[in-house]
Amino acid sequence: MFTRKVRVLITVCLAVLGITGAACAETLPKYIFLFIGDGMGSTHVRAAECYFKDAQIQRGLAAEKIAGLTLLTLPMRGRATTFAKDSVVTDSAASATAFSSGYKTDNGVLNIDPKTGRKFDVMSQFVKRHGMRVGIISSAAPNHATPAAFYAHVEDRDMYPEIAMQLAASGLLDYVGGPTMLDVADTAAKATDAKAREAALKNGYTIVEDRQCFDALKPGAQRIWVRSDMPMVIDGKHEIPLAEHVGKAIELLAGPEGFFMMVEGAAIDWASHTNDGAALVQEVLEFDRAIARAIEFYRTRPDEVLIVVTADHECGGLSLDEGRLNAPGMSKILEGQKKSRNTSAEMFEKFEKGKISFDAALPQMKAFFGIQNLSDEEQAECRKIFNEGGNEQGEHSYGDERRISLFWSRLVSARAGIIWGCLDHTAAPVPVYAVGAQAARFAGGSDNALIGRYIRDIISERKK
Ligand SMILES: [Zn+2]
Repeated sequence: MFTRKVRVLITVCLAVLGITGAACAETLPKYIFLFIGDGMGSTHVRAAECYFKDAQIQRGLAAEKIAGLTLLTLPMRGRATTFAKDSVVTDSAASATAFSSGYKTDNGVLNIDPKTGRKFDVMSQFVKRHGMRVGIISSAAPNHATPAAFYAHVEDRDMYPEIAMQLAASGLLDYVGGPTMLDVADTAAKATDAKAREAALKNGYTIVEDRQCFDALKPGAQRIWVRSDMPMVIDGKHEIPLAEHVGKAIELLAGPEGFFMMVEGAAIDWASHTNDGAALVQEVLEFDRAIARAIEFYRTRPDEVLIVVTADHECGGLSLDEGRLNAPGMSKILEGQKKSRNTSAEMFEKFEKGKISFDAALPQMKAFFGIQNLSDEEQAECRKIFNEGGNEQGEHSYGDERRISLFWSRLVSARAGIIWGCLDHTAAPVPVYAVGAQAARFAGGSDNALIGRYIRDIISERKK
């Protein structure tokens, strides 16, 4: 009676209704996590997963004991577009604005309509209006674009002092975790931070700056601002890792009001801007450990928790050479590079100052990046770049720009199957993973602004 097309259409509709029906029947979550891997495309996740598994194999773990990334165990999968209002390739400011407000804006802008000047209702305002508590955690300074988008309004993301003062003046944030405030110039950062710190204290924030005070924090404390250094994981352990921030924020904020918590793995983007695969995999793992902490909480109350993991954009145009990526021992190649590409700057400065020749410098470069065997072509290329010198810079700079350090970080990455295409963000859609109450809403094709709106829908429906 029905044509084939109509039958297919009915089947699809029923399937969609089935999913939606199941979602509506579920309870509405009281605790909502939004994890943002800055710059994290699906290839970044896969690279980290292959590294993580191979590292366990290399340590001699039995096959049945080998674990994968926690985020890949989340059952709901989707893909989100990330475009800004004025560009198909977004920056973190425009994308985080979309998550926070549900609206698109131009690159560089935080929560303001670029045409009309209208200020958007940001996520922390919305959440507080609905009687819930707010946590903002990032491995970047809280006045950096992504965390800032959840509470601040500025025309330009580089207005760091203004953003810092908006945080200090805000009564919306119950837990802030991350490094101290930054500024355009490192020399200005100290003053910007000191001013915001003083204003925050006056506004009733409890400021926590050491491990002891952090451990002593107990539920009931209000406006907590935990400040601790968070260098790239490859360069040194964090005094308070991202996962511990998440654990502490859960402990402090969980209660009858419920909470919204944004957690950003910021340095995934910085490792990608510098095409540093060895640094990248460690950052994705750090981010994944933070997700695992939220999953532990979810397991104790699955009907009350929603966890959404996604990214603000892709960075580095990353593609994978699956043969090399899956070759036993690939983790050893990445671990051979002991520090981030950025920290190699010190070594190259010494070469430049001492006018060291390529042949004298080569053993040190090999030792730093952990590669002993260069092919004749590779060595010739390395010699040429070393002697020519110069920089290669993307649109945003997040560290060393030397062509020679880029040659090495790309070489280490490529040997492990991690192939960098560029130094900038791309328009590639980002992965979405979700688990918990209402997680089905985040499956399938989506967009960063839609994800922000779905979270708002859930909060409004719960508080009706
Ligand atoms: Zn970036």
